[in-house]
Amino acid sequence: MLIKINMIQLCQILPLEKEVLYIIMSVVLLFTVDEDIEKMEEENARMRDELACKICLERKADIVFLPCGHMVSCGQCAVAIDKCPICRKKISGRVKTIMYGT
Ligand SMILES: [Zn+2]
Ligand SMILES: [Zn+2]
Repeated sequence: MLIKINMIQLCQILPLEKEVLYIIMSVVLLFTVDEDIEKMEEENARMRDELACKICLERKADIVFLPCGHMVSCGQCAVAIDKCPICRKKISGRVKTIMYGT
């Protein structure tokens, strides 16, 4: 939710003192920041899910299968399968990926 309040418009609608208006504005800003943090946490959780190994759902998927290029498995699960669980292509190679910052 995005709240945009035009201060000049608000002044015209409500006969408020400037100080009162500033308090309202900071409350609105605080509210908006909270919403953004919530959204960020949701996004992080979604990304964690997307990065999780599709086989064990526990470890991080960091192995790219060749030749199909899918990255859906962790190192331990990757060696236990010989077909990509997404496209069913035979795996001829496995490449460990290292993400920047991890
Ligand atoms: Zn796994
Ligand atoms: Zn695949």
